[in-house]
Amino acid sequence: MHPSTTRCDIAIIGGGVVGSSVAYFTKQISASARVCVIEPDPTYALASTLRASGGCRVQFTCPENIDMSLFSIDFIRNFADRVSLPDRPATVDWVEGGYLFIVPSEHMKALAAHVDVQRGRGCDVVLLSARELADKFPSMNVGDLGGGAYTPRDGWCDPNGLLWGFRRKAQAMGVAYVKDRVVGAETTAHRVTGLRLESGARIVAEHVVNAAGAWAGEVARLMGMPLPISPLRRFEHYFTAGSPMERLPYVKDLARMAFRSEGVGFSGGVVDGNAARGFDFDIDHEYFDRVVWPAVAYRFPPLEAAKCHRSWSGLYEQCELDGNPVIGRWNRRLANLYTVAGFSGHGMMHAPAAGRAIAELITCGEFATLDLSRLGYERVEANAPYREAGIL
Ligand SMILES: Cc1cc2nc3c(=O)[nH]c(=O)nc-3n(C[C@H](O)[C@H](O)[C@H](O)COP(=O)(O)OP(=O)(O)OC[C@H]3O[C@@H](n4cnc5c(N)ncnc54)[C@H](O)[C@@H]3O)c2cc1C
Repeated sequence: MHPSTTRCDIAIIGGGVVGSSVAYFTKQISASARVCVIEPDPTYALASTLRASGGCRVQFTCPENIDMSLFSIDFIRNFADRVSLPDRPATVDWVEGGYLFIVPSEHMKALAAHVDVQRGRGCDVVLLSARELADKFPSMNVGDLGGGAYTPRDGWCDPNGLLWGFRRKAQAMGVAYVKDRVVGAETTAHRVTGLRLESGARIVAEHVVNAAGAWAGEVARLMGMPLPISPLRRFEHYFTAGSPMERLPYVKDLARMAFRSEGVGFSGGVVDGNAARGFDFDIDHEYFDRVVWPAVAYRFPPLEAAKCHRSWSGLYEQCELDGNPVIGRWNRRLANLYTVAGFSGHGMMHAPAAGRAIAELITCGEFATLDLSRLGYERVEANAPYREAGIL
């Protein structure tokens, strides 16, 4: 054997919030498992997790997404109790600020149907008319709205705290974080047999997990797996209002405007789902004035004099098939290769549930709590999209 070969039971590629959640839950279920996480950058300079805006919501329509949110939000709400270390509290600054989806009249019927699905799975959702919206949010221009769906128990947290809480706890439970990058893989007809690292070292593991976020498509290619996940640049902005206005929940509309109160101002933007794919972190400093400001000022006139203080960019790990994540094993080919990526903008909020699901699949051979089979790789192989009907 090559002198720098390390053996472990489970090798996780990518130590962002998703990979670190997989590591934590694997050790929770199987304390004796030898787990290592391969992560090239402990500062997470380009990782999506540290650029996320922290939103967590139950407003989906696929049962799997709703159920993942319910588990994850409860987990995040009680994060400190679950993952604090004796000498290091795990803080995520959970804010139960709520989510609000607003739609014009012609979409109210669909929104009401989504609300029924969410209520049927135990979510607390209130359907508001335009009049009720205006009463609750006096700054909102409701002239062209039919109403909205409000989920008061949704909110947002600090993504950095979530990632580091998982990582520190996983390390305390014995998980090894290897500062290196996976650059190659050895495979047989049915298994991944080894991972080659940039340093020249090699890792041999019983199970290999691809949790490389926006890089997951590239990592999959190293193993001959076509995975339709690409990097999609998104801008986030911090801005303040010109005149006083009420605090807002996470407000979203059909044009993908999405923002919420943050401190004395607001954080958010307008997602451009058609942006060119690629590992591009350049910031278009005119995007706020050109796209975001008109949208937020139209909806909330006190934002007409909004001032943008900071803009940053980050990558969505966009699943080009249907915008839903790929969570599962490559059963037909490399049966010890697991994928947990492609969350398309929801990976922080779903990291706890997705991490637990992969940990169950590895240690028990099947999903034990939430059945996420419909999110598996089989739908990619069959080119059968499984779409969210809910507003993204
Ligand atoms: C502006 C913005 C706002 C967002 N807002 C929200 C939100 O409100 N709510 C929400 O839920 N989500 C949000 N997201 C999405 C969220 O950030 C991601 O879905 C989530 O962070 C994905 O986590 P991850 O661990 O898979 O990816 P990452 O955090 O990117 O981690 C992947 C890791 O893999 C490592 N890696 C890459 N290649 C290799 C390799 N070859 N070998 C080993 N390691 C490798 C990288 O170094 C990286 O650290 C937002 C994203 C952006 C950009």
